[in-house]
Amino acid sequence: MAPVTTRCPGAFLRHSEWHRTDRIGWLRAAVLGANDGIVSTASLVLGVAAADATHAGVMVAGIASLVAGAMSMAAGEYVSVRSQADSEKAALDLERTELDTDVPGEVRELTAIYVGRGLDPALAGQVAQQLMAHDALGAHARDELGISAMHSARPIQAAATSALAFSVGAALPLAVVALVPLASLVPVVSGTSLAFLAFLGGLAARVGGASVAKGAMRVTFWGALAMALTAGVGKVFGTVV
Ligand SMILES: [Zn+2]
Repeated sequence: MAPVTTRCPGAFLRHSEWHRTDRIGWLRAAVLGANDGIVSTASLVLGVAAADATHAGVMVAGIASLVAGAMSMAAGEYVSVRSQADSEKAALDLERTELDTDVPGEVRELTAIYVGRGLDPALAGQVAQQLMAHDALGAHARDELGISAMHSARPIQAAATSALAFSVGAALPLAVVALVPLASLVPVVSGTSLAFLAFLGGLAARVGGASVAKGAMRVTFWGALAMALTAGVGKVFGTVV
């Protein structure tokens, strides 16, 4: 990633607050990955169980779901981080060229952006000039391209983190499958999985300063829907096929 001296948007916040928002982003990604793992593995397990599979068959399906989901998360995250970094680099390269070749045009461009945000033209021109004198590329990156802080693009790390979060989530319903007899598998797996989801949804909401009940209910609702649909499909195809 090209070095850009853009200030992070939270730099005006107190130091501790900036780190708090930073941590929320990281934690939210981890919780979302774990949610995915719970929802998709529990749904798959319920679908296979509803189709009258053996206990071993359900277990194999659950393990396959964990591995496939973790790899799919890793690949998706890697590609997403890389392509985001590539397109940001291309946009910054173009911006750098424009700043080298057409400073007055770039001042006009930034001025127009600030006028669009509500400054009067004289003040907007002054702001554009002062910000560009301080850090021209940074000002354009932030206010024209919407690239705020430089995400230190570490695609392998992002991929590994997503895969790990998904695996931890998927391991929860999988552990329940391993411990519970086939006969009571459907109610116990769906019940515990919804409880895990409610807990994680509430935790994420609490850390983010939002309503715990709302956060828990939202994720539980979607989880229940996914499980009910998959179990229904398993039931239907299990009797037909
Ligand atoms: Zn520009």
